[in-house]
Amino acid sequence: MNPSVAHAASIAVRTVRRDARARKDRPAEARTSVHAVLIGPPGAGKGTQAARLAKALGVPAISTGDMLRRAVQSGSPLGLAIRAVMERGELIADAMMTDIVAARLQETDAHAGFVLDGFPRTVEQAHALEALVAGRGDLIAVELAVPEHAIVRRLSQRRVCSQCGLNAEPAHAVALCPCGGALQQRADDNETTIRERLRTYERATRPLVDFYRQRRVLHAVDGTQSPDLVTAQIARAIDSVFEHAGR
Ligand code: AMP
Repeated sequence: MNPSVAHAASIAVRTVRRDARARKDRPAEARTSVHAVLIGPPGAGKGTQAARLAKALGVPAISTGDMLRRAVQSGSPLGLAIRAVMERGELIADAMMTDIVAARLQETDAHAGFVLDGFPRTVEQAHALEALVAGRGDLIAVELAVPEHAIVRRLSQRRVCSQCGLNAEPAHAVALCPCGGALQQRADDNETTIRERLRTYERATRPLVDFYRQRRVLHAVDGTQSPDLVTAQIARAIDSVFEHAGR
């Protein structure tokens, strides 16, 4: 491990340890809460990083894409309508997404914080999220930056577990996930839909970078680095928020 990676990783460990201490020693209403949102184009690594951070911090990773895919799998009329929108590379309506996330954030496991992957995706959703977390603690936004040519390559090779949602690296792709689920290509990971999803990202989601920058809660991380280094840098950003708040 090179020195900068080792340093960043040690900070990540410090964050996790301190957070665990905070949970144990403080009264419920004063506990440290991490409310993190990951922003980035499809394939930037949001799902992988959200799962790692959530595990380290003891909060749930909430992926709106996974929630929608479960709705699609149910085969209901609503699920079929959602599938059509996802396969076109477009976005589900803000009001519906906000309702889905509001309900999820009410669940007990999200009371101590969360890492959101895929929400907000529009400025309107970001306003709605602000209202949902008002009074609950600091919000931190992390932008995972990855150039378009790398995205198209990553997504067209990616395989995802049909059961647990794990992303498999193409080089390691085998037929089965460790959980036993089948590794498959997502229906929207074809080149035409990928290009449309990237256009949607530029138009609807990239404005969130300025939105959160203006609120001084944005941290940009180079998403082309190794997953370990990206995790360490996000953990360091989260750490800096807590140090700044004097916790
Ligand atoms: P993801 O798994 O995050 O790449 O999401 C897959 C697809 O689900 C997106 O391309 C959208 O069609 C839809 N989706 C996920 N999250 C949202 C959201 N917050 N707002 C609108 N559509 C969403």
